[in-house]
Amino acid sequence: MMRVLGTVFAGLLGLAFGSFLNVCLSRWPRGESVVKPRSHCRTCDRTLAWWENVPLLSWLALRGRCRTCGTWIGGRYPLVELAVGALWGYVASGQYPGVPGDSIPASILPFLLASVLAGRLLTMIFLWLLVALAILDAEHLWLPDFLTLPSIAIGVVIAFLDSFLAVKLDSLTGLLLTEGTEGMWFDMWSPGLVRLASALAAAGLVLLIRWVYWLIRRREGMGLGDAKLMALLGAWLGLPQALLAFGLGVVLGALVALVLLLLPARESEGDGWAVRKLPLGTFLCIGGIVSSLWGQPILGAYLRWSGF
Ligand SMILES: [Zn+2]
Repeated sequence: MMRVLGTVFAGLLGLAFGSFLNVCLSRWPRGESVVKPRSHCRTCDRTLAWWENVPLLSWLALRGRCRTCGTWIGGRYPLVELAVGALWGYVASGQYPGVPGDSIPASILPFLLASVLAGRLLTMIFLWLLVALAILDAEHLWLPDFLTLPSIAIGVVIAFLDSFLAVKLDSLTGLLLTEGTEGMWFDMWSPGLVRLASALAAAGLVLLIRWVYWLIRRREGMGLGDAKLMALLGAWLGLPQALLAFGLGVVLGALVALVLLLLPARESEGDGWAVRKLPLGTFLCIGGIVSSLWGQPILGAYLRWSGF
């Protein structure tokens, strides 16, 4: 019951936050405020009525066009709303810690539940951010520092807080997972430090590839924005899952590039796709979303398969 309610509630909340994200995605690139003025048509400037702002339904009812001037609103609006809604619903649909039984002592159930909810909330915020970056890079080849840099710091701080709270919870409940007191310092600090190192290593990988590419081609391949995005993935997911995201992103990007190359070039394209920049950040974000949701089982299966 909790699962169903949680899924529906989080899904609807995701639609609403996806709708807000659409406003941000239209206004950030122009340097406009996301709170005012109220939502309006970009062509005829008419302020939208409340019923034209309902996520998904309004777009369907209006068939994607402005009611007065008939301008095509764009497929990105329902796509973003649907994506955030589906991702949030999916995250909320996971198993919740059950009633106290032989496995879970009643004294720690509230802590356990609180930590599960906090973890899911953070995952939802992280996924929202990745959808935002994916669209911004796809539409503007832009991964803004005001999104990536603070998020890197927040990801590392969360990793530190997480291990502090886990050690505190251990000593509060007396369920010591850590042996003795000499292990405490290590248990408190190492997860955060590992995340910090993961962020640096993930960014370093992109910088290294960028440098090698420049040596060979004397041209810029990956942008600095991609390095910051990888640092963000490292800070939130840890190095193994960040590398998985990178691998998935590069493969996906290569597949898309291949398909575009095979398609007959349209005459209006001029230069064609070969020299046109593909938004690598978009593919890295998609890889990050997959890695965030299913990274552990994928990596586990890979390790078993490769015989580790
Ligand atoms: Zn209009």
